[in-house]
Amino acid sequence: MMPFFKSIKLGLVNVFVMPCKNGYLLVDSGYPEDFEKIINGLNQINISIEQIRYLFLTHHHIDHCGTAAAIKAASQARIIAYKQIIPYLENGNSSLDGSHPVSKRFAIFMRLVNRFSKTADKYDSVSVDNNDIIIESDNSQLLRSIGIPAEILVTPGHTDTSLSIIFDNGDVICGDIAFNHPLLHLLGSRYQPIYIQSENLVFESWRKIISKGAIRWFPSHGKDFKNIIISNKLSI
Ligand SMILES: [Zn+2]
Repeated sequence: MMPFFKSIKLGLVNVFVMPCKNGYLLVDSGYPEDFEKIINGLNQINISIEQIRYLFLTHHHIDHCGTAAAIKAASQARIIAYKQIIPYLENGNSSLDGSHPVSKRFAIFMRLVNRFSKTADKYDSVSVDNNDIIIESDNSQLLRSIGIPAEILVTPGHTDTSLSIIFDNGDVICGDIAFNHPLLHLLGSRYQPIYIQSENLVFESWRKIISKGAIRWFPSHGKDFKNIIISNKLSI
C-alpha cells in the first residue's frame, strides 16, 4: 500500500510531505544547510514552498529543525510541535543534555567525528506565535481536522520533545524514536535512537506505537521497516 505521504531524502535525514486542507504538511526540516534540497525535493513532486501550510516538528534536534525558521518565513506555515519544544526552538537549541550514546561503540565513533568536524549545534531561532499549534498530549483530532488520516502520539525516550504520527493504515512517521541506518546498526543502535534519554521510555514509546496499530515504521534516519522487527526487539 502506498503511504499517505512522500519521503524526501536529504542525505542522512528524511523529511516527509503530505497533502492536507488547502495545501501540504511537511514533517521536519533537515539541517540548516538543507533548505535548497528541501525546495528542490518539493519541486520534484510539483509542490512549491508557498503551498506548505503546516510544519510538523518531531523534536528539537538540528537535523529536524535546521531550516524551520526559513521554511516558516518562506511559506507562513504554522508549526505543529510538542509543548516541551518551545524553549529549544526559540533558542535554536539542539541540546543533547540528559541523553547518552546508545552504545560504547557509538560513543567512540562520535568522539572521532567531533574531533574532525566542526558541525554547528545551533540553528536559526524559530519564533512560536499564536498561529502555531502546540500539542499538549496525544491528539487524535488535529490531523484529521486538516484532512490527514492520522493521530499524533507523544513518544519520549530520545528527547522529551518527541512526537510521532501514526496513520490509520498502520504507517508510522516515528522521528528519531527508532533508527534504521546500516552504519548505526554496525555501531550498536539496533533500531534504538543513537542518543537516548531513557531506554525504558524508548521501549515504552515503541510499545505505545505498536498498541496503536503500527505496521510500517518510517524513521528520520534510514529506510522504512516492518513493525515485527521492533516487536521482536521488545521481547528479547
Ligand atoms: Zn534526534
